[in-house]
Amino acid sequence: MSQKIIFVTGGVCSSLGKGIVSASAGMLLKNAGYSVSIQKLDPYLNVDPGTMSPFQHGEVFVTEDGAETDLDLGHYERFIDENLSRFSTVTTGRVYSEVIEKERKGDFLGGTIQVVPHITDRIKNKVLQASKYSGADVLIVEIGGTVGDIEGEPFLEVIRQLKAEKENVLSIHLTLLPYLQASGELKTKPTQLSVRQLRAAAIQPDILVCRADKNIPEEILEKVGRFCGVENSAVFPCETVSSIYEVPLRFEKRNFAEVLQRKLGLKIKKPKCAEWEKMVENIITATDELKIGLCGKYNELDDAYLSVIEALKSAGYDIKKKIKIEWIDSEKLEKKSSSEWKKFKECKGICVPGGFGYRGTEGKILAAKYCRENNIPYLGLCLGSQIMAIEFARNVCQLENATSQEFDERSDTQIVHYLPDQNSEISKGGTLRLGAYECVLQKNTKAYECYGKEKISERHRHRYEFNNEYRDILQENGMTISGTSPDGNLMEIIEITDHPFYVGSQFHPEFKSRPNKPSALFVGFISACNV
Ligand code: GLN
Repeated sequence: MSQKIIFVTGGVCSSLGKGIVSASAGMLLKNAGYSVSIQKLDPYLNVDPGTMSPFQHGEVFVTEDGAETDLDLGHYERFIDENLSRFSTVTTGRVYSEVIEKERKGDFLGGTIQVVPHITDRIKNKVLQASKYSGADVLIVEIGGTVGDIEGEPFLEVIRQLKAEKENVLSIHLTLLPYLQASGELKTKPTQLSVRQLRAAAIQPDILVCRADKNIPEEILEKVGRFCGVENSAVFPCETVSSIYEVPLRFEKRNFAEVLQRKLGLKIKKPKCAEWEKMVENIITATDELKIGLCGKYNELDDAYLSVIEALKSAGYDIKKKIKIEWIDSEKLEKKSSSEWKKFKECKGICVPGGFGYRGTEGKILAAKYCRENNIPYLGLCLGSQIMAIEFARNVCQLENATSQEFDERSDTQIVHYLPDQNSEISKGGTLRLGAYECVLQKNTKAYECYGKEKISERHRHRYEFNNEYRDILQENGMTISGTSPDGNLMEIIEITDHPFYVGSQFHPEFKSRPNKPSALFVGFISACNV
């Protein structure tokens, strides 16, 4: 069977949920029995999102093979339950840098390098390469940005070319139907104009998805279809719902999978959604709240900790609890009298997620101390685990000046440091330990209890490691090294076993957590909070 491609574009405005629409299409096709992969093409000029601020760009999601990607890849993995790869992420910056590198080497033999065909060919190659590498029956390609953006044009040209050259290439366009209070109506004109813009790039959408904050009347959907030249059965409403995981089920009520399969020339099979439906029911019916403090420095910025929040919530759905995230600004904890401490103490457990830089870390150290001394469940992720070790070294092992090389380059008590055999050049892009590594767990520990097996593999994204010179003193004082790299050299999980839950991992278990298969460490943590 030849591989099929679905392109997903967005119009009218950004943030409509193209990622969720792409992931939903993937989930339905996979549940219908087709293998699926997803790729994101981002029009910005950064080579990858690794160095972009979480304020602007949200979390950096890491794949098994260590690519630093857009957070949408996290949505894709959670919906389709497939591990994606470095081929699943492409930015304009990467494409240009590769083309220019070739030009510098003289590979173009003196030819003039242009957006069409050189940049577009490169993008096209990346799409075909992702399709081939994944071996999936269907590759779904989300185009970042909004139709009409100047930098998005080469991507539209690639869609046009592939639609013309290959069979079974589909275009899904997502738009917004804004609601006008005064006239009490959802308006279709912006959608019509957006489709016209797409047509100006010689792309006729095959499927339209209309996002709205209100119920969309049938007449409006018909009108959109008529004006945009899309058959009625291929115009789908996408109304705002309480959980993103409801979206594919809503689509399927109107036979989304069948329309996709028909238009892709695939044999029509009904997706099996019973398990997903059960999960969504658990999400919707969980009303009993469990307050978990998320102690970081990007307060109220859900996107900056997206996978962590998703993993916490999923661990909650499992026991029918609704996880209420309480944002704890770690910098504010540095003042003893701060009202932040009141919020902190109302939480059933505290999660200190990953992070970079010194700002806010003293507050996190105080948070770890409080949890350790008061038997409050604590889950430390990457930086959050380094914080645990520093706190323990300072307050239990009496190493008052304990810190991380990242916070104090000249300190002589670096509990966390840059490993001597790591690359000595600390530049900002691409020098981190990235991607999945194996970890071996010690029996009779909390970590082992959570995973229930000896060998695990989890994804990393960090520059610094626990300093082995302090291993003995930490252990002698009651810290357990419950997980190490297979050669025993790197400390990967630390814990205080004799505590309701005080566990920190150097890796990021949140990246492999799925809504219907929550990460073992998160399940262990949430269960300990739920007593
Ligand atoms: N800043 C720390 C390091 O580089 C932790 C990174 C993280 O939490 N992802 O090691």
